Amino acid sequence: MMSEAAPPVNLLGMTRAELEAFVAGFGAKPYRARQLLKWIYRRGESDFSRMTDLAREFRAELAVRAQVTVPEIVSERTATDGTRKWLLRMPGAAGNEQVVETVFIPEPGRGTLCISSQIGCALDCSFCATGAQGFNRNLTAAEIIGQVWLANRELGYDPGGERIVTNVVLMGMGEPLANYRSVLPAMQLMLDDFGYDLSRRRVTLSTSGLVPQIYRLAEDANVALAVSLHAPNDRLRDELVPINRKHPIAELLAACWHYLERQNGRSVTFEYTMLDGVNDRPEHARELAGLLRGHQAKVNLIPFNTFPGTRYRRSLAEAIRRFRDLLMHGGVMATIRKTRGDDIDAACGQLRGQVLDRTQVRLGSRVFGLAVRA
Ligand code: SAH
Ligand code: SF4
Repeated sequence: MMSEAAPPVNLLGMTRAELEAFVAGFGAKPYRARQLLKWIYRRGESDFSRMTDLAREFRAELAVRAQVTVPEIVSERTATDGTRKWLLRMPGAAGNEQVVETVFIPEPGRGTLCISSQIGCALDCSFCATGAQGFNRNLTAAEIIGQVWLANRELGYDPGGERIVTNVVLMGMGEPLANYRSVLPAMQLMLDDFGYDLSRRRVTLSTSGLVPQIYRLAEDANVALAVSLHAPNDRLRDELVPINRKHPIAELLAACWHYLERQNGRSVTFEYTMLDGVNDRPEHARELAGLLRGHQAKVNLIPFNTFPGTRYRRSLAEAIRRFRDLLMHGGVMATIRKTRGDDIDAACGQLRGQVLDRTQVRLGSRVFGLAVRA
């Protein structure tokens, strides 16, 4: 009798537990899963035939049952400040082709990789191009962790040498907590000692404030939390971050303090994009200090990055400094985010790529960009 062979499974994006279950399916011991993790993530290997310490029969089983499939790079650019950006091709929800971006920001003593979690975003923040253009689909765990895998390969990571990607931030395109199911396993692989083995302080998830998922994350993961606040009161935040109408500031902050307590974390970072004449006045700084004073909180002020069609402008440098000083005087730690990679449109919030066919599902490009092709 003829039986159809099952299509090969992509091992990229499977957590340790999932890999253990997978190899158990053909009688292999759990330690085989740990060996696979090490080969795939620590050594960046995708070819089973080169995984030399795996038994020959095990490799033969893998060759028919599995593969390691990484997203395809469409192009790459390097900025004058060394920031690198890759455009990755992803199949879109409507069968069309999408491009998402991953950015590497080198700094003395560390290298930060900023990765995307969705194609587009449904949350519609008014100063964000992704929000303005809509949502296409969630990325899979393989497509999320695959961004780290590719960056390591492209940056020439040598398994015996120093780490190049020391920090990962989920601050690219999309709302990570709206794609919890794929983001959680991807983060577990970043933290797993047989995966990328990053410390929990070096993996940061940024959210616009999906309160129920913050409580869920407090139980499931152990990563640094960044929250996109952008306004010190509900009236203004309702306008800038519409999810606030569902989960207002008081509820959001309660979830943040719960997260810190549960995770025994150091502090929550509150991101605050500086919009000229909108949220950058001294009274806003005082109101914000009033909200956060006495808590383990830091504020990161992000100079707004403009994109075509936006009604906002970046606050003046002087206004941003004054805002920071007022926060500090008000007892709240505050920093100003440096704009990196803006000559290749890799800076936070910079539109890059283009919608090639507007009759297709409309979707967005905010932090890094996106192109749609029929
Ligand atoms: N969706 C998540 C994570 C991605 S955004 C979130 O909203 O937190 C990373 C940060 O960039 C967020 O704080 C976001 O509000 C901010 N941002 C969005 N558009 C921007 C722009 N045009 N200029 C500067 N920062 C922007
Ligand atoms: Fe989505 Fe974040 Fe942009 Fe808001 S700021 S629309 S949550 S990607």
